[in-house]
Amino acid sequence: MSRTTRMLATVALLALPWACGPQQEQEASDVTPAAAEPPPYETTPVAEGVWQFRWQGHNALFVETAEGTVVVDPISTEAAATFAEEIRATVGDQPLLAVVYSHRDADHATGAEVIRAALGPDAPVVAHENALAPLQQAANPDLPPPDVTYEDEMTLAESSRPVVLSHPGPSHSDDQSVVLIPDVGVAFAVDFVSLDRVGYQELPGWHMPGQLEAIQHLLGLEFDTIVFGHGPIGDKAAIERQLAYYEALAESVRRAIADGLTEDEAAETVHLEDFASWGQYDEWFSMNVRGMYRLLSEG
Ligand SMILES: [Zn+2]
Repeated sequence: MSRTTRMLATVALLALPWACGPQQEQEASDVTPAAAEPPPYETTPVAEGVWQFRWQGHNALFVETAEGTVVVDPISTEAAATFAEEIRATVGDQPLLAVVYSHRDADHATGAEVIRAALGPDAPVVAHENALAPLQQAANPDLPPPDVTYEDEMTLAESSRPVVLSHPGPSHSDDQSVVLIPDVGVAFAVDFVSLDRVGYQELPGWHMPGQLEAIQHLLGLEFDTIVFGHGPIGDKAAIERQLAYYEALAESVRRAIADGLTEDEAAETVHLEDFASWGQYDEWFSMNVRGMYRLLSEG
């Protein structure tokens, strides 16, 4: 492997929150110290007026419009302080138009008050309506409930540069928002899709067949570039491959259930060779089988 390839592989690996333990140590010892320590955060231009902010293994997005900056996912209280500085350094003294939650999971949605305090205390938090009740109930000051919610679709900065939020239905969670910036063909989707990587562990809290329908929803949007909540940026073809993966996973587990296999037996025997090179396959694929087995058995 060339040094450049090794460096890229290491950066990609370290960008994952779950990339820890022996594998990481092995990679780290394989390269020079400088290459083994990628910056803990970075702001990367994605398209005109659209940036990805990465904090360790989590990605967020911000969009400049004439009405102000739209920020999607504060990530954490610690990340949000740096995120706000990065936004200020990138777009200057623009007002904050809104803080959007891709979904209510704490590892993406925590920290809105830090962003608001730094950039615009009066800007609303916007999320899908299914995020409202659970966050009201949780009453976590670091993860406030949304001030504005929507059901199917909502457009921010409509009169200047539309930023379109749409709900793909229940998938990884029941309150997902996909963000689309039509004028540059950029989308942002978190946790229910990624670049050539299997699903998270045993797919906790996921929905079927909603997961397949949510990916179909994404495919129906017009974009060329898609930023994910974790890992590298992808394109439309990456979403086609995600659909192929989850369809193949569901089909093979469905067949195992029809053949009378137990969950343990399915986890042992189901393999998808076409996806064996994907990220986290060795670690999580049999867990995906277990998760899918339970989702399909629930009827
Ligand atoms: Zn999540």
